[in-house]
Amino acid sequence: MRSADTALPETSRTRAPEGSFRLFAAGTHAGFRDHLETFGPLDVRSIGPGFIAELEKSGLTGRGGAAFASWRKLAATAQARSAGLLPARPVVIANGAEGEPLSFKDRTLLANSPHLVIDGLLVATRAVVGSEMYLYATAASLSGVGQAIAERPDARRIRLVEAPETFISGEASAAVNAISTGTALPLDKRRRLSESGVKGRPTLVLNVETLAHVGLIARYGAPWFRSVGTPRDPGTRLVSVSGACQDQVLEVAGNAALGTILHDAGIDAASLSAVLVGGYHGRWVKPLDYQLSPAGPVNQAVRPGAGVIHALSVEQCGLAATARILDYLAAESARQCGPCMFGLPAMAGVLNRIAAGERNPQLPRELDRLSRLVAGRGACHHPDGTIGLVSSALEVFSADVKAHLAGTCLRQDWRAA
Ligand code: SF4
Repeated sequence: MRSADTALPETSRTRAPEGSFRLFAAGTHAGFRDHLETFGPLDVRSIGPGFIAELEKSGLTGRGGAAFASWRKLAATAQARSAGLLPARPVVIANGAEGEPLSFKDRTLLANSPHLVIDGLLVATRAVVGSEMYLYATAASLSGVGQAIAERPDARRIRLVEAPETFISGEASAAVNAISTGTALPLDKRRRLSESGVKGRPTLVLNVETLAHVGLIARYGAPWFRSVGTPRDPGTRLVSVSGACQDQVLEVAGNAALGTILHDAGIDAASLSAVLVGGYHGRWVKPLDYQLSPAGPVNQAVRPGAGVIHALSVEQCGLAATARILDYLAAESARQCGPCMFGLPAMAGVLNRIAAGERNPQLPRELDRLSRLVAGRGACHHPDGTIGLVSSALEVFSADVKAHLAGTCLRQDWRAA
């Protein structure tokens, strides 16, 4: 047996799944026995802070949206633990709130592979020498996770906390706030959660898919994780594909071509006008010529964000679709910051006027003015994410904007996008 500071336990490196089919390799609704038979055992007690170096070698980035290097989050939390006069044992949160309406990969993962997420949560907690563990998700996901926890004695200390079904509830500081106070609203972004989160203790918040990868890296190591994907975008990621197909979750290699993903989902890219990638805080792009990756030039790579790929058919109006999303996002503001509370509804109002075909050439300029007023002025990323979506819509649907300002629409299905 290796020491507690060693990166990988002796029980690792067995039965590693090959190729890009990893996270669901144990089958649908996998119980603990299926999980162990597929992936082999994991001696979590032999994990220590040395695992953070293995995570760094793996190149794993967060799968919840920001694509931040996972090892850095663990290292910052571990460092904060020993920074004060009295060491404060960190709190670790598995975040499966998934407030993004077009995302369903996290709830699918929790329903089918809860034990991989639990493994990752146990490993991350050992690596930062944490003491408390939470799994934060909506009620629909928690019942299955509760059953999975009951199947294994090593997971009994994980506490389940219900997330409300709001867009903003999955934001990391909102998760901390929900666990601390019961209110799932974002906290001041100047406060680093790695230094002061739940009960003022160093707090690590990781998306549930990120943790599932952690559970596999702890078994099979960084070289295995890197055996698919590319050096700059290693491993696999889950994507929720919707729109011009049946809703489905796919596991794809890092830096996968968007056209290939659409093809694998049974979508004919030629039948689409655009694809929304990343979710409501993501970006509209033309259906081909992009790699799905957080790394790479903006004209070649589109950031996966929350792993959302939503296909819009050529008959549908992208401006009407974006206006509806903006209505939703404006209503989902947590109403803590004025620019977000008043600016987003104002932007939604202007975009709706463009979408409705109002002949007013000043409207795009007004939208731009409002965007600049709101940009960078929220306590969380909500306003900036919304502005990014609008700006991509104006670019990708520029011909539609022109047509709408002339009182017409290029699409058959103007109001049903
Ligand atoms: S920016 Fe908006 S969503 Fe974020 S905290 Fe402020 S009011 Fe709430």
